Amino acid sequence: MRIVFSATGMKAAPWLAGLREALPGAEVLEWQPGAPPADYGVVWAPPQAFIDEQPGLKALFNLGAGVDALLRLALPPGLQVVRLDDAGMAVQMAEFVCHALIRHFRELDAYERDIEAGTWSYRKPRDRAECPVGIMGLGVLGARVAQAVQQFEFPVRGWSRSPRALPGVECFAGADQLDAFLAGTRVLVCLLPLTSETENILNQRTLSRLLPGAFLINVARGAHLVEADLLALLDSGQMAGAALDVFRTEPLPAGHPFWTHPRITVTPHTSARTLREATIVQVAAKLQALERGEPIAGVVETKRGY
Ligand code: NDP
Repeated sequence: MRIVFSATGMKAAPWLAGLREALPGAEVLEWQPGAPPADYGVVWAPPQAFIDEQPGLKALFNLGAGVDALLRLALPPGLQVVRLDDAGMAVQMAEFVCHALIRHFRELDAYERDIEAGTWSYRKPRDRAECPVGIMGLGVLGARVAQAVQQFEFPVRGWSRSPRALPGVECFAGADQLDAFLAGTRVLVCLLPLTSETENILNQRTLSRLLPGAFLINVARGAHLVEADLLALLDSGQMAGAALDVFRTEPLPAGHPFWTHPRITVTPHTSARTLREATIVQVAAKLQALERGEPIAGVVETKRGY
């Protein structure tokens, strides 16, 4: 069995070594133009030439949960695309979102500014019942975040494409229930995949339906958000702030207003990182299952885009 690896922005050597160790019978190569045809691809944002030169692939393993970049390539019909299923990302996402939520809810930025100014002062405690958290996307990551947020006793709501039932979560589904979901949400967390249905979904129309003083946490993809609409809602005072981990252009360009906006916190697409060891274990197990003809989890429905 031959495996080719191509991951833009990642050092190949430790991945190759890890895959060789996990799959001792396999030949594992870093892809170069003209590389021999392989059975499986392990990739992150590969070039189109990789796809074009590997027509015999049985499956393509994506080194992340989001497959939007991969699905933008021209893939042969029927090629099986497999996404990462958690592999250590869900707990990272849960801690990141809880941190952003609590930092906002407990006004920790304001306390930090007070402390810098040498001021010892108290703010009135807020009522968490007045701060319902709405999670868009109740998949592998969204469901884990919903569970974590509940631990802090915030009311939790969720929105998905098809109806879901999660303990303790008020669930909404489909375009018909989007407005009802938004209307009861004060802190909105975006954990949707980027598809033709969800691009630009965080816009003036949707964000202005949130409860007054809303806070946005976008940890999904930058193209979910219409940036100018968020800025207008913050500047008008309708929304309180945002924690943004993902951007339309990454790295966030110098001089972009998000860098210095007093009510926006920026992080460099780091909320849930691909963890090499856990990922290799998962990819190797799925690849072996496919070789045995067994079904695996995380196969992307390319038509729906996730
Ligand atoms: P999943 O595919 O497991 O879950 C996606 C969820 O979104 C599902 O609940 C799905 O609904 C819902 N959904 C999809 N389309 C729609 C729609 N049109 N309307 C309503 N709901 C919709 O994905 P993950 O939870 O694993 O990951 C989510 C995204 O997080 C990834 O696609 C990726 O872009 C992003 N991500 C960001 C990272 C970062 O570091 N910032 C790291 C990892 C991922 P249903 O349940 O009905 O299928």
